[in-house]
Amino acid sequence: MTKPPLQVLLCAPRGFCAGVIRAIDAVEQALSIYGPPVYVRHEIVHNKYVVESLKKKGAIFVEELDEIPPTDAPVIFSAHGVPKAVPLEASSRKFFAIDATCPLVTKVHREAELHYRRGHTIILVGHAGHPEVVGTLGQLPDGAVILVENIADVHRLADEASPEFLAKKLAFVTQTTLSVDDTQGIVETLKARFPDIVSPHKEDICYATTNRQEAVKQIAHSVDAMLVVGSANSSNSQRLKEVSERAGCKNSQLVLRASDIDWAPLGDIRTIGITAGASAPEVLVEEIIDAFAERYTIEVETVATVTETMFFPLPRELRAIQEPMV
Ligand code: SF4
Repeated sequence: MTKPPLQVLLCAPRGFCAGVIRAIDAVEQALSIYGPPVYVRHEIVHNKYVVESLKKKGAIFVEELDEIPPTDAPVIFSAHGVPKAVPLEASSRKFFAIDATCPLVTKVHREAELHYRRGHTIILVGHAGHPEVVGTLGQLPDGAVILVENIADVHRLADEASPEFLAKKLAFVTQTTLSVDDTQGIVETLKARFPDIVSPHKEDICYATTNRQEAVKQIAHSVDAMLVVGSANSSNSQRLKEVSERAGCKNSQLVLRASDIDWAPLGDIRTIGITAGASAPEVLVEEIIDAFAERYTIEVETVATVTETMFFPLPRELRAIQEPMV
């Protein structure tokens, strides 16, 4: 039986960003230098495939440090960042801590601290409960940072604000992996309701999130379906699916790997777009292309919007060991 034709448009950039590569490298380097086990607080990046691969190499994942017995083994903090209390606890328990927080998340932490030192109350735009948001809230004392998730939250904050609150100096920061378009609306509302609010020096939504969303917008309106490769708990992968739907491709799926694809809505498609969240490895994109090749006669084309050159060196705890003796 002849297979129907299918044009596969691959978004570029897609998949691993510089922060994810650095975090995974940190675990692999720690395993190679110190041997297993290496403890990792929280999923090093939000991708089950990556986490399972590292587990097989000897990484032990925990949610909190109290799950770790007394040990000399390295304890690595995930790319999402941690509240200040976490390194303090690690230090009090004499753990050898390695901080794999993405430098672009650390930048937001430092920004929030700077605003605080200058007497500002900080508004954080982000998703409640996401580890990055928990980490950013945890950089400063309780009450110093107020979380807003959407435009309604901003209006509520302004409508219910006391005269004392309105007299405060305000500044805002954002989670790095938000929808660029949604955040623009929230920021415009913040500026309209609090005209003196101080903006970030430079955009907090990171280059990787922005570029992956732009690449999806480029093709979403012209394909019959879109597959986003990524974990359900990956914020930037979830946003890619939303961006695709809003750009006109209602037939969009977020899948961890080929076995998760729901083939029913893909029956008579002629074109499909494929992208991957910043924590999704390319091997899973290839697996998905292979799955399509079994069912269709595929023609693959890459649609590139920008070339990424960002690189982050390993966390300094590992860099020191890697540097040659002089
Ligand atoms: Fe860093 Fe952005 Fe990647 Fe998150 S998505 S790890 S903030 S580069």
